[in-house]
Amino acid sequence: MSAPADHRPVLFRNGTVLTMDDAHTVLTGADVLVVDDTVADVGTGLAAPDGAVEVDASGGIVMPGMIDTHRHMWQTAMRAYGADWTLTQYFVWYYLEHGKHFRPEDIHAGNVLSAWESLEAGVTTTVDWSHGLQTTDHADAAADALESVPGRFVLAYGNIQAAPWEWTADAAVRSFFERRTRSDRLGFQLAFDVTGDPSFPERAAYEFARDLGLAVTTHAGVWGATNDDGIRLAHEAGLIGSDDVFVHAATLTADSYHRIASTGASISVSTESEQSAGQGYPPTWQVRQHGIPVSLSMDTSVWWSGDLFTAMRSTLGADRSREHLEAHVKGDTVTHSSLRAEHVVEWATRGGAAALGRDDLGQLVAGKKADVVLIKNDHSPVSFPLLNPYGHVAFQAQRGDVHTVVVDGHVVKADGRLVGADLPAMRTAVDNTVDFLVSTIGEDAWMSGMNPDLPPGSVLDNPYQYTDYKSDATREARGTMFGDPGS
Ligand SMILES: [Zn+2]
Repeated sequence: MSAPADHRPVLFRNGTVLTMDDAHTVLTGADVLVVDDTVADVGTGLAAPDGAVEVDASGGIVMPGMIDTHRHMWQTAMRAYGADWTLTQYFVWYYLEHGKHFRPEDIHAGNVLSAWESLEAGVTTTVDWSHGLQTTDHADAAADALESVPGRFVLAYGNIQAAPWEWTADAAVRSFFERRTRSDRLGFQLAFDVTGDPSFPERAAYEFARDLGLAVTTHAGVWGATNDDGIRLAHEAGLIGSDDVFVHAATLTADSYHRIASTGASISVSTESEQSAGQGYPPTWQVRQHGIPVSLSMDTSVWWSGDLFTAMRSTLGADRSREHLEAHVKGDTVTHSSLRAEHVVEWATRGGAAALGRDDLGQLVAGKKADVVLIKNDHSPVSFPLLNPYGHVAFQAQRGDVHTVVVDGHVVKADGRLVGADLPAMRTAVDNTVDFLVSTIGEDAWMSGMNPDLPPGSVLDNPYQYTDYKSDATREARGTMFGDPGS
């Protein structure tokens, strides 16, 4: 584990502190003291121990490190490539056609880049939903990458090139879990999807997970892919554990939510993903009726961003949008927002900690692990006035405002810059991966994969176009922009 050698105490001085303790205490003009790997004290006017690094947090917000419970980190090597994809195009690209081309070094390159991307945005714990592990060499590369970066990670082991009951039967996979060290900074889960086949072949994968003491994370309620049947089968078999995570959980009936709620398992909502890829409507507006715990996630940087500011913002927007829509259908008006900025900050911190069974994360409380983020940007007009700290985090702040990040007591970002990150080496590794993929699948397939064909579209005939205010040429140009106008 290569962590910075510098392990001096760190004292954040005079900030607005979101403790995220049980009472959600917010302190102003307050200090947070980190000693070794632990939050030693939170309060005002704390004494600095000998040799402490003091960080001026005035005008800023000190909060617990954020936690992303579902990200396919290997796909960061193809950042933004699939920006215009649908879920179908994603499945075709990775599952059917090209995911198999990834070598262990490609998994490594994507993971290292994604891991530093997390830290840079104040995401101190990230679940690597790693479903490109065709061999244990790939798995070792994924784990090595995560161990080389000074954040907290959970490697959720998966393999889309084989059925879960096949790859979990591989003795090499079992030996991977036996020989890799689980630590405070690197945990493991099992990642696979349950198709709803009535014979429930995924039972073997669940039993493998239970045998090894691993939580199961699964894409659930994904339109066209997974549905209520998978949840019912696993629940009827008594195989859902309280540490299991149901990702998306979007296209489901109340029966599935009742079953999930009864087990204590949680839901990982990837709003930016669900809104764009088509798994179903981001479900927070309905899961609150079931009391199911929620955490947030970003899913994949092949499409979207890798920061939880965006997750918080998009989740608030989707939830409120749906609530207004449901009310308007009934002729009603929403007069109070059910989902508050404070709730999404909770989900981004303690929600993630709870999903991972980590009571020691997600709070700035003495005795908890020292994963701390300072949001402060004295060069930005968006940094003041600081009136509503939760609202500021959820709707105003962004990754460029992350000033300082501490993980396990180590400073990994200071004064807006990562500490110890070799960006040139990361760039070389990822460039090599891209070059390899392009040469393997061919330039034409690479370009067409990134730019999926747009089916013909048309602009409606407009009865109000009485004049030549819009010329034929203008209308034609507009039609072309959105597809063939067909006229
Ligand atoms: Zn996913």
